Amino acid sequence: MPYDFDLFVIGGGSGGTRLSRISAGHGARVGVAEERFWGGTCVNVGCVPKKLMVQAAEYGNWAEDSRGFGWDIQKGAHDWTAFIAAKDREIDRLQGIYAAMLGKAGAKTFDAHATFIDPHTLDVGGEHVTAANIVIATGSTPHKADIPGADLAGITDDLFYLPKRPQRLVIVGGGYSAVEFAGIFAGLGSEVHLVYRQPWPLRGFDQDLREALAEAMAAGSIHLHPGVSPTHIRASGADGQGRHVTLSDGAEIEADFIVLTTGRVPNLNGLNLAASGVALNAAGAVAVDNGSRTNVGHIYAIGDVTDRLNLTPVAIAEGHALADTLFGGLPREASLENVPTAVFSDPPLATVGLTEEEAAKQGPMDIYVSRFTPMRHTLTKRAGRKALLKLVVDQKTQKVLGAHMLGEDAAEIMQGLGIAVRMGATKQDFDRTIGIHPTAAEEFVTMRTRTRVAGAADTGE
Ligand code: NDP
Repeated sequence: MPYDFDLFVIGGGSGGTRLSRISAGHGARVGVAEERFWGGTCVNVGCVPKKLMVQAAEYGNWAEDSRGFGWDIQKGAHDWTAFIAAKDREIDRLQGIYAAMLGKAGAKTFDAHATFIDPHTLDVGGEHVTAANIVIATGSTPHKADIPGADLAGITDDLFYLPKRPQRLVIVGGGYSAVEFAGIFAGLGSEVHLVYRQPWPLRGFDQDLREALAEAMAAGSIHLHPGVSPTHIRASGADGQGRHVTLSDGAEIEADFIVLTTGRVPNLNGLNLAASGVALNAAGAVAVDNGSRTNVGHIYAIGDVTDRLNLTPVAIAEGHALADTLFGGLPREASLENVPTAVFSDPPLATVGLTEEEAAKQGPMDIYVSRFTPMRHTLTKRAGRKALLKLVVDQKTQKVLGAHMLGEDAAEIMQGLGIAVRMGATKQDFDRTIGIHPTAAEEFVTMRTRTRVAGAADTGE
């Protein structure tokens, strides 16, 4: 056999693991290298520990919420050290499972950095290996905005390992991570300042959702600083351990920790891509076609390193499709249309399909919006808990092109709606579906009165 492996995968994150496992299952001789931690960002410094932190924060309000139902539960202190230790034990367990899964599937694992020597040869921790096909699945890495004093600020990864919870936290950015961590630390009792340069957080999401989230966060305890950027960060306090940030509107904030959650960049560190001949796109990501193939015929890339849709389940879908194509005799591409996504802010939001703003460019749209206080909060009286449910419906075909929700359980609800939208369900299909009562989700099948028309003039009535 001319090569050591049929497939060598660089990166043991979500996408790389699925690709390796399925390829090995199809009978390929697979090697996979991971230099940091098995499971990658999602398992170690992303989705999984983040969700545990969201759950930790949720309890913060429950003692008070329960009073509305007659309970008298006294809220005690949160033990950050105990929680982080419990979280770390769970992450260690999952890391072990990931590495073991690969071994059981028959893939050879390397705890090492891999770098290209030539298009078919890699240096993997000092050992030279050759492969017929190579897949770059190295993910992405947090990017710090270029702000004076940025070296005094942390990155998203740091938030998972802080030795103690900051009493005062400044979060810079208005993306997924920024709003998620704002909710987490506010829920745990920190004073949180969210500093973002747009008028609302979550650029690219449906405008109604963005505004409703900002309203909910402000009604909670999060200090919002919209439309501004930090101009300078400096150390403060007698021991220099404090942090002081100056904002472009002249505001000054004193904090214990500042985190720059200002996006992520493809992780190409030390790959020596020049030796492979693989080209990057204008954004500095590995350029691939719909089948994840680079400009070099036998080299592929999946997941965040390609900067297509940077979500774990997308990387997994790309990896699985590629394994089936290369070794399973089932050539196919992962579909990136109507991918549902959720932001675990407080309250959370979730979405599938087109925003009102995107859809309106295509023609007249019937827009249905429902805002209401969920049953639980009619008794808790907690501020900022109003839910928002929204459907974007093509006026001509009556197809539901977008579904959006802000409110508790939004992510759980949107997963099912994602199937309906993907299948091309019409508003009438939604209307014919009988609701589950009493739930917030039933509102999606009981919205009868159109709120407004978006896009070109209403041709209907
Ligand atoms: P995002 O790309 O989502 O957001 C980056 C934020 O930083 C934006 O608000 C951006 O503002 C802001 N920003 C960028 N540069 C600067 C600057 N120089 N000064 C001030 N602000 C700046 O990054 P995240 O790290 O939050 O997430 C990365 C990706 O990971 C997400 O897009 C998502 O795909 C994925 N993710 C998914 C999660 C989930 O599924 N729940 C959770 C976390 C991440 P602007 O909008 O103006 O550009």
